[in-house]
Amino acid sequence: MHQFTTEVEELAKEVLEYSLIRLRTDPPLDGPKTAQELYEAAGNTITKAGLGGHETLKLFKDVLATACISTDHPRYLAFIPSAPSEYANLFDLVVGASALYGGSWLEGAGAVFAENQALRWISNLAGLPASAGGVFVQGGTIGNLSALVTARAHFRTKRSDVTKWVIAASLEAHSSIKSAAEVMDVEIILIKPDQNGVLQGAACADAIDKYHSENPTHQVFALVATAGTTNLGIIDNLKSIAPITKERGIWFHVDGAYGLAALCSPKTQPLFAGIENADSLIVDPHKWLFAPFDACALIYRNPEIAKVTHLQKAAYLETLDDDGEWNPSDYAIHLTRRARGLPFWFSLAAHGTDQYAAAMDQTMDIAKHAAQLIKQHPNLELLMEPTLSVVAFTRKGWQMADYQKWSDKLLADQIGFVTPSSHHNQPILRFAIVNPWTKESDIAEILATL
Ligand SMILES: *Cc1c(COP(=O)(O)O)cnc(C)c1O
Repeated sequence: MHQFTTEVEELAKEVLEYSLIRLRTDPPLDGPKTAQELYEAAGNTITKAGLGGHETLKLFKDVLATACISTDHPRYLAFIPSAPSEYANLFDLVVGASALYGGSWLEGAGAVFAENQALRWISNLAGLPASAGGVFVQGGTIGNLSALVTARAHFRTKRSDVTKWVIAASLEAHSSIKSAAEVMDVEIILIKPDQNGVLQGAACADAIDKYHSENPTHQVFALVATAGTTNLGIIDNLKSIAPITKERGIWFHVDGAYGLAALCSPKTQPLFAGIENADSLIVDPHKWLFAPFDACALIYRNPEIAKVTHLQKAAYLETLDDDGEWNPSDYAIHLTRRARGLPFWFSLAAHGTDQYAAAMDQTMDIAKHAAQLIKQHPNLELLMEPTLSVVAFTRKGWQMADYQKWSDKLLADQIGFVTPSSHHNQPILRFAIVNPWTKESDIAEILATL
C-alpha cells in the first residue's frame, strides 16, 4: 500500500530537514498578513492537477509559515505561549507517521496505556485516589465542558424536581466556563472573589445558599474553582472551597488549564492544597507542561460516572465495550481521537519528572526576576507579585491605545509578542512565562522598549 517513490523519498528529506531546522534554531517570531496579501503571494493552492509536494512545501515555508507567529519563541509572552520540549516535538512526528487511533483499547492499547500513565502522574500529584482516571482532550474548553456535562448528568439521575441546573464559579473564571453554561443551557452564578482575586469558600457558601433560598427549584450542581487564572495566575482557595461543595453535595471541578501544571514542582505544589477533594480537574500540557498543541488532561475522581455520561452507543461500536478495558472515547465529548497525549507522555517518560520540576521552577524564577526588573523600571508599576509565572504590570500614563500601539510595534520590529489585557477595566500588560528558553535578557530587551 505504501508507495514510497523517489519523489516521496525526496519530499521526506525536505520535510525532515525543514522540521529539524525549525526545531534546532530560534525561529523568527513572524506575524500575520491580510488574506489579500496572502492571496497575492500564494494564489489559489487547490488545483485540478495539484502543485506537487515540493512546490506545496515551498509555498508553506516561504509564504504561509511566515504569516504564523511562532508561539514557542522565547519572547512570545502573550496569552499563554507554547513551549514543547524537543522530545515532545520530535515524538509528535512519530505520532503523525504512525496512524495511531487513540479512541479505544482494542485499536490503540499501547498508546492508551502510555497516555494513562501520564494521566496517572498528574492524578497522583493532585492526590486523587488510584481509581481516578480520564482522557486527553483537545483543550481546556472541551475538558471543562465534558466535566460539567458529567456533573450535571450525575445529578439528573438523583433529582427530578429541579427546573433549572446551575453552575457556580468565580467572576474571574475563564470564559470557557461561561461558554459551557451557554452550550448546556444552564444558569451560571458568578461569585465575587476577595480583594486579591481569590475565590473563598465562605463567599461561595453565602452566594449558593442565598441563591437556593431565592430559587427553591433551581439547583447548583457544580462549583468551579480556578487553579491559576489565565490573566494573573491567581489560585482560588481550594482548601476552603472543597468542604462547601461536600456539605452541599455539589460537584467540585477545578479548572487548572494553565496553573495546575505547577503541581509538578514541590515548591508550588502546596499552593493547590484542597485539590485532592476535586471531583474532576483539567490541566493543559500544551500550556505549561512542555507539550505541543493540542492536549488537555481531563481527570475524574470517579471515571465511571463520566463513562455512563459520555459513552456513545451504536451498533457498530458495541464490540468495543465488551472487554472492560479503558476506551478514552468514553470519557469526554468526542469519539474519534488522535493519541494526542503521546508527545507529552514521551517527553515525560524520557526526561523524568525531576526535569519537569526543574523546568517549571526555571520559568517561575524568570517571572520573579521580571517582577524585580519592573519594580526597578522608572515607567512601570507591578500590579502584584506573581503567584505562578504570569507577571502583570502597567505603564505610567498610558491609555489602551498606547498599549496597543506599543504591542503592534514590538511585533513589527520582531522583538517580542506581548499583548495588552485588562484588570478591573484598566489596561495592563502581562508576561506569561511558560518557556524555559525565555531568559532574563529576553525580558530586559522587551522592558527596554517601555
Ligand atoms: C486556557 C484556559 C482555558 C481554555 O483552554 P483551551 O485549551 O484554550 O481550550 C480554560 N481555563 C483556563 C484557566 C485557561 O487558562
